[in-house]
Amino acid sequence: MNILVINCGSSSLKYQLINMKDESILAKGLVERIGIEGSVVKHKTPQKGEHIIKEPLKDHKAALKIVMSSLVDKEYGAISSLDEIDAVGHRVVHGGEDFAQSVPIDEKVMEAIDRNIDLAPLHNPPNIMGIEACKNLLPKAKQVAVFDTAFHQTMPSVNYIYALPYEEYEKHKIRRYGFHGTSHKYVTERAASILGKNVDEVNLITCHLGNGSSITAVKGGKSIDTSMGLTPLEGLPMGTRTGNIDPAIIKFLMDKENLSIDEVNEIINKKSGVLGISGVSSDFRDIENAAEKGNERAKLALDIFESSVAKFVASYLTEFDNISDIDGIVFTAGLGENAKTTRANVAKKLSVFGIKIDENANDVRGKERIISSEDSTIPLLTIPTNEELMIAKDTMRLAK
Ligand code: ADP
Repeated sequence: MNILVINCGSSSLKYQLINMKDESILAKGLVERIGIEGSVVKHKTPQKGEHIIKEPLKDHKAALKIVMSSLVDKEYGAISSLDEIDAVGHRVVHGGEDFAQSVPIDEKVMEAIDRNIDLAPLHNPPNIMGIEACKNLLPKAKQVAVFDTAFHQTMPSVNYIYALPYEEYEKHKIRRYGFHGTSHKYVTERAASILGKNVDEVNLITCHLGNGSSITAVKGGKSIDTSMGLTPLEGLPMGTRTGNIDPAIIKFLMDKENLSIDEVNEIINKKSGVLGISGVSSDFRDIENAAEKGNERAKLALDIFESSVAKFVASYLTEFDNISDIDGIVFTAGLGENAKTTRANVAKKLSVFGIKIDENANDVRGKERIISSEDSTIPLLTIPTNEELMIAKDTMRLAK
């Protein structure tokens, strides 16, 4: 069975065609600058390498047309006919309270994704466009929606209700939803397997640390708390996002700098986080390099990020009765998989709980490994995430 995984961003589109027999990637690619001058498709296959197409693409429908023709191209394609695509798995960002798991797409599902546009105005509309285009281009293939929010729908109300007037939740569904659910779920399943436990018995704290970052407490294989909120702005400081700040800062900034709410929104989403603190870059590698050369603000940005990770992990320990009930703390995504210094510094900040990293084991990139020392109260693991494979597995299950 071949599954096409589609991830539509506001001006980009990522895709992977996966042969589920051996989970091998037949083709993958990235379309950038959709609807903007300079659209480009970067299409790759394991045998034929990268093929770049530069062509104006006015919307996601046009982008998907090019993706499909690339997949069947005689020269650089991966399959001989689109009929070889059995199902399509779509990453959908916000499922609101409507979806606690992945679902085959029908009219009702489309209505619900549409209803949740208010909660993710930048993300759900391109997701809908991607689904509509695939329905037209691949009428025989089953379409499945996999939601970023679904894994977190098991959170209890004590962890998702904000201290606002309760009516705001009732009227507008203002609550914590959480994101990166597909990634937290994937590493939960992998961690259970590595630790030799059933998924529904595993207790973890999973740290997805990338450009966007979130931390999740997992009890019995289910999400019970997570650091992102109504939107992906809450929680840890990120590449360009503030994470948690005093909400009063927003009005204060508007008054002091004479800014509109949209301008402040731009600052807290695009100009803050480790970019804002360091003034160097939103990319952690650039910041690490600057810090090594003695840039104090770059050092401060890393320190603030690592402290914030440690504090979220520490706060999630309170979800369990005993420290020995926790089977592992997992590091994943760009930084979690690759940045040994970040992992080591976070572990050091958690040493009060008897958490200890093994420096030799921690000297690893992009591999599944236990990186704590034998006498650590909680095992530490690094597990590369694979959201596309998770989406493909759910799609295969639901398409059968
Ligand atoms: P996204 O949220 O865009 O999917 P990723 O999970 O790919 O992000 O993470 C990207 C981040 O990971 C970047 O800030 C990058 O600098 C960081 N990163 C990747 N490799 C390393 C590394 N070896 N050391 C430090 N940071 C790294």
